[in-house]
Amino acid sequence: MAQSHQQARWIAHVDLDAFFTSCEQRDHPDYRGRPVVVGALPGHRGVVAAASYEVRRFGVHSAMPISEAYRRCPDAVYLRPDMEKYRRASRQIFRVLETMTPVVEAASIDEAYLDISGLDKLVGPPHKIGTEIRQRILSATGLTASVGIGPNRLIAKLGSESCKPDGLAVVSTDQVLDFLAPMPVSNLRGLGRQTQKIFDRLGIETVAQLRTLPLAVLEQHLGQRAAASFHDQAFGRASDTVVTERQRKSISKEHTFETDVRDPAILHDVLRELAADVARTARREGLAGTGVTLKIRFEGFETHTRRQRLASPTDDERVMLKTAWTLFLHGDLPHKPVRLIGVGISGWEDEAQPQADLFDQPERRRQDKQLLNTIDSVTERFGKGMLQVGLSRKTDK
Ligand SMILES: [Mg+2]
Repeated sequence: MAQSHQQARWIAHVDLDAFFTSCEQRDHPDYRGRPVVVGALPGHRGVVAAASYEVRRFGVHSAMPISEAYRRCPDAVYLRPDMEKYRRASRQIFRVLETMTPVVEAASIDEAYLDISGLDKLVGPPHKIGTEIRQRILSATGLTASVGIGPNRLIAKLGSESCKPDGLAVVSTDQVLDFLAPMPVSNLRGLGRQTQKIFDRLGIETVAQLRTLPLAVLEQHLGQRAAASFHDQAFGRASDTVVTERQRKSISKEHTFETDVRDPAILHDVLRELAADVARTARREGLAGTGVTLKIRFEGFETHTRRQRLASPTDDERVMLKTAWTLFLHGDLPHKPVRLIGVGISGWEDEAQPQADLFDQPERRRQDKQLLNTIDSVTERFGKGMLQVGLSRKTDK
């Protein structure tokens, strides 16, 4: 008879607990045990980016207007986000996860999916692996994570949600239906306000109730795609594929301006920041691409993309910036104020056909690599904008 831990796939979902506020409480012992809000400051416009567990008791949650949060809990500690700090912690966390398995997919700054199938021989059964992940994150970062483990992504994610904070949930294939049955349908993925209304009208509150609806009936109310999705989820069927960075199709960053921008100097500066970000991510993942994409949006949501194929793969921000800027200047784009600008790299080395670049000598390349690695480590320690690779700007547009 098959044991439940010998099933084909085990997926883990790792999610840090109240990540931003936990970073602040870790670094400021006097904030521990107190309600902490990271986001806009009271008296300003804006929302809550993160709420500590202590302040959630007052009904404060992320995306809530800061004025509302202040009304509910005026005594909380209100802090502006320190993104560099959170990114630093995030990098540490992902390094820890990669000591467990190379099959790690970043879902957000503080969330990841891991394929831990087959690790039982190395580490032990799923609960041992989950415990190990949580301990390693805690000792590396001083932060707590909740881990859900199940036969697919949905069950892993719902598992980590069910055991927050500082918890571990392991749901095996034969436990999936019981695990889901009492859950409110609002826990399922992709449930918007409209769908919630339809479920309300049908008197469907729990997953168990949702299961009693035949697919055909569900289709009449939700349409084919949504019906199939919720029907599958109700029975715990979901993808068990974890997409690692290496399999990722592209890396891109974009920036939306608060007011439309005409000044090419500003556009070039922002593009340089974005290219540096993209290049840093590419180098961290060991990826080099041959396709540079410029994305640009003008007022009225008119969006254009331009793509240039390089003779040889790059992970160098100077090449990305130069290529994207050339596309901006000579890509036959309208001369209008810019609302959004972005840059991306794709077409990874192993899938592209590498061509010899006559101008790129190996020695030069090695020196460049050292320079860029130095920049990465300085950036990691001191934050963005400390060091940049020089590149002259041409603004002949
Ligand atoms: Mg989290």
